[in-house]
Amino acid sequence: MKNTTIFTRAYLITGNDTPPKPDCTVVVSDGKIQDVFCGNHELSSTDAMLFDLEGKTLMPGLIDAHVHPGNVEMYLHLTAKLPPAVYVHRVTRTLETDLQLGFTTLRDAAGLDEGFRAAINQGLIKGPRLLLCVTPLFQGQASDTPDPRNSLGICPEICDSPDEVRQAVERTISRGADHIKVFADGEVISQSKKDDAKPGQPKFSIEALQAAVETAEKHKAYVMAHCYSAASVQNCIRAGIRSIEHGNLMDEETIQMMVTHGTYYVPTLCPFDDKSIDKAKAHFDERTLEKLEIVMQKGKTTFEMAYRAGVKIASGSDILGPDQYLKGRELALKAEIMGPMGAIVSATRTNAELIGLADRFGTVDKGKLADLIVVDGNPLEDISLFERGLEKVLFVMTEGRIQKNHLLPL
Ligand SMILES: [Zn+2]
Repeated sequence: MKNTTIFTRAYLITGNDTPPKPDCTVVVSDGKIQDVFCGNHELSSTDAMLFDLEGKTLMPGLIDAHVHPGNVEMYLHLTAKLPPAVYVHRVTRTLETDLQLGFTTLRDAAGLDEGFRAAINQGLIKGPRLLLCVTPLFQGQASDTPDPRNSLGICPEICDSPDEVRQAVERTISRGADHIKVFADGEVISQSKKDDAKPGQPKFSIEALQAAVETAEKHKAYVMAHCYSAASVQNCIRAGIRSIEHGNLMDEETIQMMVTHGTYYVPTLCPFDDKSIDKAKAHFDERTLEKLEIVMQKGKTTFEMAYRAGVKIASGSDILGPDQYLKGRELALKAEIMGPMGAIVSATRTNAELIGLADRFGTVDKGKLADLIVVDGNPLEDISLFERGLEKVLFVMTEGRIQKNHLLPL
């Protein structure tokens, strides 16, 4: 196999929030981007795989910073009932599809077994690079029996006091977690049948959240927090949590605190989109619908407030259940407020910064790992191309390895 791949005549979006450029050449070898130049240039390598990208866009691989490939059904108790082999095949299919959609990195937001990461790294299955939190932290008493998230034995860590939280983080890191997920607020779809908390109701003390952050940082990891209300988000910001997930009920004061502390915001617009809500209404029970009502209207306006205030906006689709192939819609929903370039930067460079790996990937720059995708057309003119990623993303490369190729080499 040829070691060098050269893309020519590409319309280039670097992910750096710089104007796109036509007629660009990108040279990849040894898994890295070796050169990027635009306009006429003599190509030195003759023994390379060449792709002419006229009419197509070359850009960084997409990153989704809030996913649940492990939640194959909408409700966890239904997921947990699936026979293990069926569960594994269904998760594998989602991961393979995500790569085909152009997602080269995923940050799991609860419950994906580290075996999937190992299977991808060993070449047994195809999938994006996975960053995992393995076992999320859920507030409760030591005597509580945790509800399983799947049939492979993954359960949340139940903890409450700072000491219990420290131990839970240590155990989670030892299971291979890259980051820690805490549920610092009530949920719309509760993962525990015994949980009566409503969205907006803070969970964990600031001291306990601080204990999570300190213990994670000892292992060069960080904490992401599920929360909705100003009170729970403020607790998380004060505790030093790196990213706020959802945040639908935040106010101006809280948003200003995020700006001051440099906290990332992952607004997760997909689950609160009209199309998803219509579908959810057909499936959810009354209790879940009541809780959805509390948060569903405010997601978009809060996101707009945060964006206008200058909060660092990362991108996560947070799709549960069988519709996970719709991840690309998150970019279209973001673009309604941030514009298409803003949405792309959010899902590439900003997400790479959030996960602490921006020095390795997230932009098309010399020296970065070659995580690249080719899109048929121009996503700045039609951001909905990502919603049709299976058809419109023609080529996917991770660390220089071709993962999908609907292009013909010259
Ligand atoms: Zn989530």
